Amino acid sequence: MVYRWEGATQELRYDDRKIAEHMTMAGNGLNKHVNATKIKALYSRSRYLRYGFTGLLAGFVSSLVLATTLESIPVAVLLGSVIGIAYVVAFPNVQRLYIDSVMTAAALGIPLWAFVSVVVMPLISGWPPRWTAEGMRTMLPQLVAWVAYGVVLGLTAEALSRIRVSWLGPDSILRKSPMVATEQIVILGGGFAGMATAERLERVFGANHKVTFTLVSDTNALLFTPMLAEVAGSSLEPTHISSPLRTSLRRTQVVRGRVIGIDLEKRCVILAMNGRSRGTSTLSDVSEELLFDHLVLALGSVTNYPSAMQNVKEFALDFKTLPDAMRIRNRVIDMFECADRESDPGRRQELLTFLIAGGGFAGVELAGALNDFARGILADYLNLRAGDVSVILVHARDRILPELSERLGRYALERMTARGVTFKLNERLADARADAVILQSGEEIRTHTLVWTAGTVPNPLLGLLPVNRDKRGAVIVDSTLAVPGHPGLWALGDCAACCDGKTGRPCPPTAQFALREARALADNIHASLNGKKLKPFRFRSLGALCVIGHHTACAELTVPFVREKSVQFSGLFAWLMWRGIYLSKLPGLERKVRVLMDWIIELFFPRDIVQTIELHEKGAPDGNLF
Ligand SMILES: Cc1cc2nc3c(=O)[nH]c(=O)nc-3n(C[C@H](O)[C@H](O)[C@H](O)COP(=O)(O)OP(=O)(O)OC[C@H]3O[C@@H](n4cnc5c(N)ncnc54)[C@H](O)[C@@H]3O)c2cc1C
Repeated sequence: MVYRWEGATQELRYDDRKIAEHMTMAGNGLNKHVNATKIKALYSRSRYLRYGFTGLLAGFVSSLVLATTLESIPVAVLLGSVIGIAYVVAFPNVQRLYIDSVMTAAALGIPLWAFVSVVVMPLISGWPPRWTAEGMRTMLPQLVAWVAYGVVLGLTAEALSRIRVSWLGPDSILRKSPMVATEQIVILGGGFAGMATAERLERVFGANHKVTFTLVSDTNALLFTPMLAEVAGSSLEPTHISSPLRTSLRRTQVVRGRVIGIDLEKRCVILAMNGRSRGTSTLSDVSEELLFDHLVLALGSVTNYPSAMQNVKEFALDFKTLPDAMRIRNRVIDMFECADRESDPGRRQELLTFLIAGGGFAGVELAGALNDFARGILADYLNLRAGDVSVILVHARDRILPELSERLGRYALERMTARGVTFKLNERLADARADAVILQSGEEIRTHTLVWTAGTVPNPLLGLLPVNRDKRGAVIVDSTLAVPGHPGLWALGDCAACCDGKTGRPCPPTAQFALREARALADNIHASLNGKKLKPFRFRSLGALCVIGHHTACAELTVPFVREKSVQFSGLFAWLMWRGIYLSKLPGLERKVRVLMDWIIELFFPRDIVQTIELHEKGAPDGNLF
């Protein structure tokens, strides 16, 4: 079966008529109100001018809230207005729910408070930053003011954006976008890279329905990986960190299926779809073909074990997907249930030893979350003591978190050690059994829970393509994110080897980069279809944040406009920043509210120890999780 977007012709007619109506209305307005239309024309010339003016007005109005607590009113107005402009430029989508806009802007109030009131303002006044517990307590009125500022900003920005659209017409229609021949753009992968590419394509092509978009993914939701450790640690409900692809995308056809082949010559993708044969209730894989003119590879990465570690692979749990996090949580609870009935102290300790391999972000965040979880649920198990629990992190280098500065790595190690995590540095796994892990030094650690976070490789499916790949297996792309020698083929995110267009430095496999690459790639597809010059991808990392458990985090943020300079935070302050920043980035209002509720519940109630189950539908092949 070949997918074509049915109904495209009808929608094209409808939208062409709409565009024509808008043009006519604009034309009539031009005859009647020459001066007003001149202003409109000037205002519509640049999208950023439109957004900037909306943001300036919204920021100005909202800054009155800030002025109640900041010492200088002009500074409050200036700050409020600049942030207003940045907010509307960053979140220009209109016709969101008001409450969504309010929640996003209010959540941003927390990091803004942390950055401006706690750090920058004291520094400007010649004082050290007030990031001690006492200092932050004195800053609480300003925290309330920043959040209130966010609420008003979200409301006014959305209201003004709607007025702007009703006065000037939709942004996308006003953008001059020459019609192009019918093109099918297919995106493979529904992670950060794929989802953001689809969103950006919808935005840049606007009402141009001669281009169709299809997104293929083997899951029907975007997984927000920065919060995955909190699912494993039972702080968050699993589905609360996944956003359905269909509800976030308006005109992209979402196909849930597994890519099993790509034919670059025939320009088609082969999919295995879970289908039901007619007249039966049995599930079987049905293969289908999907044609493309432009293909975007956003297939991410998979967990990787060195070939000599087949036993480790057999006994370790992965930590990459939502089911992985649920399995880890279930295993921890399982071990507690078994240990509670165990009379032998040695065996109890063995059951309650949780070993994590890998001291990067994922491993450290998981160790912190599991340590909090395991120690937090002890109260439910009357026969167990704190001394029975041990969380061990094995790392091949001499310090954890190599992505952060040495000082922050040391801080994380000291704080986590004080809370009971054991670190084995300069150590590697050599072998594993169901009840033990053997290290290269020969030490044997008795455990039934081993989690592997020590390596990923780009999706192995890419190995089937006749394209150049780097030594990790990532598809090599040029600075515009196009695959050289294959017109219409693009790649980004964890499955692409891409370098910054300005510095030439390789881009790290993080969501932060995947999201920015997606915008550049979609803009370049738009440019290539309109015969315009493609732009190289350029982005400088904003920094990194890592939660280490117990309301503590480490943060290293890049100083804007100052090359190679960064500021470092740690402790409660960094943890608040982490929560504020990631909550604002979590897609969709509903998910934000759900996560916020989970966090509030966590403050007052113990962690949930109800085990979730893996459901296998009757008759489904083994391993099919529904
Ligand atoms: C635990 C953890 C924590 C992290 N924390 C952070 C963080 O705090 N900040 C940060 O910037 N980055 C973080 N990352 C890294 C970040 O998640 C990745 O860099 C990012 O997800 C890459 O996006 P992507 O779209 O390229 O790949 P993915 O997000 O992995 O998306 C790939 C998509 O392709 C789909 N897919 C794969 N194979 C097939 C197939 N054969 N057929 C159909 N669909 C397929 C997958 O289901 C998935 O939807 C973290 C990663 C992990 C594992």
